[in-house]
Amino acid sequence: MTDEHKMFRESVRKFFKNELVPNLPKWREQGVVDQDFWLKAGQAGLLSSAIPEAYGGYGADCGFEAIIAQEQMSVGDNCWAWSIHSICTHYILAFCSDDQKARWLPKLATGEFIPALCMSEPVAGSDLQALQTYAAEDGAGYRISGSKTFISNGQSANFLIVAAKTGRPVRGTDITLFALSTDELAGFERGRRLKKIGLPGQDTSELFFDQVFVDRSNVVGEPGQGFRLLMNQLPWERLIIALGAVGYSDLMMRETITYVKARRAFQKRLMDFQNTRFKLAECQTKLEVTRAFVDKCVEEMIGGSLTNASASMAKWWAAQVQCEIADECLQLHGGYGYIFDYPIAHAYADSRIQQIYGGSREIMKELIARTIDV
Ligand SMILES: Cc1cc2nc3c(=O)[nH]c(=O)nc-3n(C[C@H](O)[C@H](O)[C@H](O)COP(=O)(O)OP(=O)(O)OC[C@H]3O[C@@H](n4cnc5c(N)ncnc54)[C@H](O)[C@@H]3O)c2cc1C
Repeated sequence: MTDEHKMFRESVRKFFKNELVPNLPKWREQGVVDQDFWLKAGQAGLLSSAIPEAYGGYGADCGFEAIIAQEQMSVGDNCWAWSIHSICTHYILAFCSDDQKARWLPKLATGEFIPALCMSEPVAGSDLQALQTYAAEDGAGYRISGSKTFISNGQSANFLIVAAKTGRPVRGTDITLFALSTDELAGFERGRRLKKIGLPGQDTSELFFDQVFVDRSNVVGEPGQGFRLLMNQLPWERLIIALGAVGYSDLMMRETITYVKARRAFQKRLMDFQNTRFKLAECQTKLEVTRAFVDKCVEEMIGGSLTNASASMAKWWAAQVQCEIADECLQLHGGYGYIFDYPIAHAYADSRIQQIYGGSREIMKELIARTIDV
């Protein structure tokens, strides 16, 4: 970490402590983050580190975003889907023209645009080539029809990146990405906010498109190249998840160490039982080994050398370690660990999805195996 990174980390910590943590109970209850929080985050510089100065950001390396990803989870945030903002911003930065960047990046930097990344569908999750949403060419643009599900920020988003098939006959990888603002978007509808076992403050939702017209100028990259673009950006998405796993594991360890020092049984502190000490030693070791690998991946990401396989290893491993730590730490809390008054209960419920979204653990292993079986 450079001195700039360290200073940024301090300001992020302060922002989360003052502006985010006090709101978590309310957001969990309402199932969605207040829209004005996005604007506050924009003002505090949490949405623009990757965005060049010309478009309202400060064009810094992705180490700054890595700090946000980790710090966010180390305060137990299970509401604000910041990661989706970062991922969508990276798509625009990597594949859009200067005109498109000028249209979208300034509003992403301020938080006026709340983004959603619309890939998954009822029939297509891991198997993205099975997408059925179709964008038919129509004059100066396309008409998109289809349904998306599991979309983070689904109720609050006003800026979407949508993956749709464009080839006829429909071929597996003939996918195009579209970026669109939802203002006055005829034919676009939001469906249910899905009830989940964790991440209660995230408005994960269904979205529907019925002949939604989008201009050609809204195509991200080249038509038909969307699958390649998605594959290109997945390492960053996976690294963010791994960073969040390290951050959340830090929180679980802190909470559990405090708890076992305070709780007594059989005239001893829980901390004095050898089982407790060994379990915590095992968890701390797993966490530090994971942190070292994830930090190495961040360095590689900054240097432009992070491979798909390393990002997959980081995502799979860190998510698994997070779930193992959640399980052990909940156990050490006894019955109180099962009650949402205690952060470990949320951490346990929130952790499980880490092994599924952004590419399931099985898909991660498949990607790693491909680099072994050459
Ligand atoms: C809270 C939440 C937020 C989400 N946010 C978003 C979002 O913002 N945008 C978005 O587009 N999507 C989002 N998703 C969707 C998420 O990315 C998918 O759930 C995930 O990719 C898995 O797809 P699926 O659920 O269709 O499972 P499936 O693909 O049906 O997989 C089911 C099981 O089969 C296994 N499997 C599938 N293929 C293989 C294979 N080849 N080899 C071995 N095993 C295999 C999987 O690993 C899994 O265990 C979100 C999901 C959740 C729950």
